Amino acid sequence: MAHLTVDIGGRPGLDCRGFCEYCYFKHVKETVPFGCRYCPPYKKGCDYCTRSVREYYQGFRELRDIADDVLARLQTIPDDVTRITISGGGDPSCYPCFTDLIELLSSMEAPLHIGYTSGKGFDDPSVARFLIDHGLSEVSFTVFSVNPALRKRYMHDPTPEASLSVLEQLAAEIDVYAATVVLPGVNDGPVLEETVAWLEDRGAKGLILMRFANSREQGLILGNSPVLRDQRVQTVEEFRDMVGDLAGRFSMKISGTPLWDPEIGSPFALAREPDLLGKLPRLEGKATVITGSIAAPFIRKILGSRGKGAHVVAVEKDIACLITIEDLQALDPASLDPLVILPGRAFVHDREAASILSRDGVERTVIRGPESLTADAETSMGMTRSGVLALEMEAFSDLIRLINRYGG
Ligand code: SF4
Repeated sequence: MAHLTVDIGGRPGLDCRGFCEYCYFKHVKETVPFGCRYCPPYKKGCDYCTRSVREYYQGFRELRDIADDVLARLQTIPDDVTRITISGGGDPSCYPCFTDLIELLSSMEAPLHIGYTSGKGFDDPSVARFLIDHGLSEVSFTVFSVNPALRKRYMHDPTPEASLSVLEQLAAEIDVYAATVVLPGVNDGPVLEETVAWLEDRGAKGLILMRFANSREQGLILGNSPVLRDQRVQTVEEFRDMVGDLAGRFSMKISGTPLWDPEIGSPFALAREPDLLGKLPRLEGKATVITGSIAAPFIRKILGSRGKGAHVVAVEKDIACLITIEDLQALDPASLDPLVILPGRAFVHDREAASILSRDGVERTVIRGPESLTADAETSMGMTRSGVLALEMEAFSDLIRLINRYGG
């Protein structure tokens, strides 16, 4: 079984017919490299934390380069290709040679998957039939609203009726996962209910609702806040309740990011599973576990069920994966244990973190925790509850073993 990802390049906003009003890549500034888990110990900044994080591509790649790349990769894959995913910084629907690209990839006779499209590039409804006939089996499609005027106003979709027609035809025949950023006062409330009902009626497999973020604490770390001046933002609790309410009223799967997947109970479904908690290793070491404000109560509960050695500290950032060095600077080092564990994906350089967190003269060891302790809605959308629980059990077991080993 081999899964081939085809990167078509492209720049968010620029290679998707202009920025959507709410796009997080709008106003992105040149910031110094953050540092991350991929950086070498002696250097802050690698390709991932300087370029990939802002999806810094030159533009769409030439079709010929993509074809050469695919051919070269096929020669290194021993098995048959069982799935092909089209990804990139720009929007596949806006790729200039889109039909040629699909024809090229469909010749490999593996199911095609479009990792993300806004559909803004679909001007002709007949493209849906073309895609289905060429093996498209799954697509993640940003909808924002099924009201064409709202799509036009907020996504700058020049042909919203055509895009919605493509979405409708795809939902009837293949696996369509819709997504929408929720702008309170714009596409929430009855507008959102209309969108959910429309998608369910057309046969979509699921909808992921994304809480709009407008400040650094909410996750805009590329110097780009606010994305929308004067736009109201839901609190995490309001957002979670809205997701739960909608999921309870429709049969299509509805989940939200950063919170929550009501069907699975994630993120951190493990926190409500006392029997499984009892199977985690006993916590014998001592450490401070740094995380974001959403994850902190869950991690505290899970680790607390296995011993008293973990001191879970939340920084002023909703999402742990988006923690940067400023968040660590705001902590009082004296309140930390000699061993400090950072989220696996936090955007900090380990050496810089160790020096900031030891600035009171007490040397602290800083290490990375598991890459992820749970599955967010985008990950859990295609997973079962037992799959998510297994992932969490493994990640928390690793974290506890790390604390026991280094925080003795
Ligand atoms: S389609 Fe996606 S990447 Fe492009 S501008 Fe809209 S939100 Fe940004």
